[in-house]
Amino acid sequence: AEIWQNVPLAPPDSIFKLTAAYKADTFPQKVNLGVGAYRDNDNKPWVLPVVKKATQILVNDPNLDHEYLPITGLPEFTGAAAKLILGSDSPALRDGRVVSVQTISGTGANHLGALFLSKFYTWNGSKQVYLSNPTWANHQAIFRNVGIEPVDYPYYDPKTIGLDFDGLMNSISDAPSGSVFLLHACAHNPTGVDPTQEQWQQIAKAIVAKNHYMFFDCAYQGFASGDLDRDNWAVRHFVERGVPMLVCQSFAKNAGLYGERVGALHLVSPTKEAADRVRSQLSVLQRSEISNPPSYGARVVALILNNPTLFAEWNQDIKTMAERIITMRKELHHLLTEELHTPGNWDHIINQIGMFSFTGINTDQSKSMTEKAHIYLTTNGRISMAGLNTHNIRYVAESLDKVVR
Ligand code: PMP
Repeated sequence: AEIWQNVPLAPPDSIFKLTAAYKADTFPQKVNLGVGAYRDNDNKPWVLPVVKKATQILVNDPNLDHEYLPITGLPEFTGAAAKLILGSDSPALRDGRVVSVQTISGTGANHLGALFLSKFYTWNGSKQVYLSNPTWANHQAIFRNVGIEPVDYPYYDPKTIGLDFDGLMNSISDAPSGSVFLLHACAHNPTGVDPTQEQWQQIAKAIVAKNHYMFFDCAYQGFASGDLDRDNWAVRHFVERGVPMLVCQSFAKNAGLYGERVGALHLVSPTKEAADRVRSQLSVLQRSEISNPPSYGARVVALILNNPTLFAEWNQDIKTMAERIITMRKELHHLLTEELHTPGNWDHIINQIGMFSFTGINTDQSKSMTEKAHIYLTTNGRISMAGLNTHNIRYVAESLDKVVR
């Protein structure tokens, strides 16, 4: 018998498959709305001007070496990253209750957070994590890999193409006390549907009442509203309320550093003494997983976060990206409602936030967009607003119009 004969062939990753199909398509007006990365108005990847600057500073530093970073990462990076997500006036930071570990981007932060919980969280019965339905497809696999079973909570309501707030609140109160809840801090992927600040306040109250644990995933700070401080509002609110929590942070989207894998895991502990013990165990886990995190991207981000001039420029670059996306939302909404008089209500296009939008079109309509119009999107009707630009938006709107009529 052949050694790997029991290894079944896994299906290709659906997003990867979509990108490959788009690339192979020779139709001149083809559009890729599956892509999870920012594109400029000419559909090109965008290197942030501030990243170019920081890179120059880095490569011209005569003292730059390639030594290992500490196990928990570059302190100038993790310290500034914690301030960015928790707020520089965070009571938890002031008390020394935050453990910050540099990770392999947001995915690595999710993994390390999940691994730590699987080993050290006091589980009330079976190891489970509550995930929004739907969520980033990788969440299920990341938790299953470390022996934590994903359970769905209602999040998206297809009837309103918005938040199923009652469903969410009911699952928080029905879950056994001490359950782990994962919520997207802002710009929910894949729906683009976020709770309002009032709703976040009610969620925090309900989480506290049931003694649940908050697992925040924050992959889009700044990308939602264009304002870094507005986008970390939910996280700061939960810290202020004393909710036990961790936060996964990614610099892939907001700094355009997708391939450099820059991220961090921040765990907010009740005391400094607890934080020290948690830090020691996270170091042990990190050591066996990756030994030391990569230095390049963390150095770039550390320069940007710690230099006021570069930081201001970064805020401008983030606005450039967020505003282009918001403009595309407005334009798509305008074309559908004012010009084409497409049947149905399209207000969700402007109410949703961040890189993605759930259009509300069904599987068959999504497939038809791809097959008939060469517009590539996932079959759940999700489109990446970053794939839209002034050259293709009318074509996309007209194709959407055709498919829903
Ligand atoms: N969480 C969510 C919700 C995401 O959408 C993403 C990126 N697609 C990530 C985490 C992690 O991305 P990365 O590992 O590239 O930082």
